[in-house]
Amino acid sequence: MHGIFDERRYLIPFRAVLLPQIFTDVLVIGAGVAGLRAALAASRHSDVIVLAKGKLSQSNTAHAQGGIAVVLDERHDSFDEHIANTLTAGAGLCDEAMVRCIIEQGPRLLRELIDQGMKLDRDESGNIRMGREGGHTASRIVHTNGDATGRELAETLIRLAKAHDRLRLFEDCFALDLIGEAGPGSRCMGAITHHPKYGLQVIWAKATILASGGTGQIYRETTNPSIATGDGHAMAYRAGAALADMEFEQFHPTTLYVAGASRSLISEAVRGEGATLVNRDGRRFMTDVHELAELAPRDIVARAILEQISSAPDAQVYLDARHLGDAFPERFPGIFKLLAKFEIDPRKQLIPIRPAMHYMIGGVLVDESARTNVPGLYACGEVACTGLHGANRLASNSLLEGLVCGEIAGRICQEAATQSVSMPIKVVADIRPSDRSELDISDVRSSLRSVMWRHVGIERVGGRLAEVAEMFDFWARYTLDKIFDERAGWEVQNALLVGALITRAAMWRTESRGAHYRTDCPMTNEKMAVRAVWKAGSVEAGVVGLRNGK
Ligand SMILES: Cc1cc2nc3c(=O)[nH]c(=O)nc-3n(C[C@H](O)[C@H](O)[C@H](O)COP(=O)(O)OP(=O)(O)OC[C@H]3O[C@@H](n4cnc5c(N)ncnc54)[C@H](O)[C@@H]3O)c2cc1C
Repeated sequence: MHGIFDERRYLIPFRAVLLPQIFTDVLVIGAGVAGLRAALAASRHSDVIVLAKGKLSQSNTAHAQGGIAVVLDERHDSFDEHIANTLTAGAGLCDEAMVRCIIEQGPRLLRELIDQGMKLDRDESGNIRMGREGGHTASRIVHTNGDATGRELAETLIRLAKAHDRLRLFEDCFALDLIGEAGPGSRCMGAITHHPKYGLQVIWAKATILASGGTGQIYRETTNPSIATGDGHAMAYRAGAALADMEFEQFHPTTLYVAGASRSLISEAVRGEGATLVNRDGRRFMTDVHELAELAPRDIVARAILEQISSAPDAQVYLDARHLGDAFPERFPGIFKLLAKFEIDPRKQLIPIRPAMHYMIGGVLVDESARTNVPGLYACGEVACTGLHGANRLASNSLLEGLVCGEIAGRICQEAATQSVSMPIKVVADIRPSDRSELDISDVRSSLRSVMWRHVGIERVGGRLAEVAEMFDFWARYTLDKIFDERAGWEVQNALLVGALITRAAMWRTESRGAHYRTDCPMTNEKMAVRAVWKAGSVEAGVVGLRNGK
């Protein structure tokens, strides 16, 4: 990247010394599974503050339906099989050492949560029920109340965090930027934040853990809640962190498509229970596309649906789950309730669906200890890029990653949090006020989301990507030079930066692999089995090689 995107270190001008100051050992930005698990681990050795930009209940974590992939019963499943499934989905770009580490630590951390009160669905004998999802060769998805796994996980972690003496939770507290000394290689020392009641504040921390989740909201169609605007990706980039695998976004094939409804997810587990995809003529089409039919990898199902939708102006695709009958409300009570709001009875009617942006695979590059290249800055969860997912995420591996890598980040940051670090330091961000005209933020936002969906979505083509990159450069010239004093403006500035990074990365990868599909380069090119890395100030992408787990 270059030019206007790399010019600003901070979104707003400020002098740290003139703002209210808060001090802590560890600052965690994000209160989803990764942030809360990190905070619980860090609070064993340190004082911790956790930020959520909205309410604690608003996170991708709380929306998760299908469940957590974990090997609990080694009589019917094995770590090696889970690892093999993850590597297959990752299409040659997984970091095998990371895959093994995360999969092997999952059961211990899940059992710990069960001991602390997390409820999972069980059969009549009290054994945990294990579901099946696409790409898994064994039933290894644990779930709660059918399709409310994320809510139960989030509520459990919030309860544990609230009970902890050394842990403070700040809701409605928006992190604008990571702060630190100027210059490359300088240490991260916390963040500048904004709260509607307290205004701007500086939170100084010896260690900062970024756990700010995903980027779904930069696409017009997304399953992600409104908090997922890529703030963490953008602030890390501005602070000098390396970002990797940014061209890989997972699009979920089945979200409810009803005018006026948000794109609510219809979990893959519904297809796992035998639901089929049919076109407007009632014809099942996935059997023509892949041997696993509806349970083929998500990118293949999403592209097949797109092809059906593009075949005629009024074409539509439906999920047919009628065979489940009264088992539907029992197994998927949340989805049943959602459909009832639109007078759809899945026991008797077809469910209209379309694909939507679901999961950000790329993010802040971390090592196996959740360390970024910026001293004092750690990252975990969806904002981080560990290499677990490679070029495509295996269903239900992300809550697992959040749990395991959150715990690692919280534990490992002790090395920084117990050092003596002199704080506060002088941080001055001078930005020349822009003399350009007022900006309609909502218009930039909707144009950005629309362009990302149409041209940087499920299918991409080099020429269009180049046009989008040019367009983003142009929008950036009059959007990134502004100084906003509210969240909506900062989010758009962040989204523009992240959208530009995704677009550049998608242009760079002149092949199709995993979740990244280029119609002009439909084949996989073995010479491109490397991961692209992006850093402020570098025009070209760097590359990281691959590690195997042996
Ligand atoms: C509808 C849906 C269903 C899913 N189903 C599954 C599933 O079944 N299994 C699975 O494994 N995965 C699933 N996923 C993916 C999974 O939920 C996420 O990848 C995971 O929860 C991410 O956790 P996280 O802790 O990294 O981020 P999140 O849970 O998204 O939390 C992000 C946190 O960061 C905070 N934040 C963001 N920006 C700022 C800022 N600027 N300042 C302060 N705070 C900020 C937010 O307020 C929030 O607290 C699903 C996702 C969605 C959207």
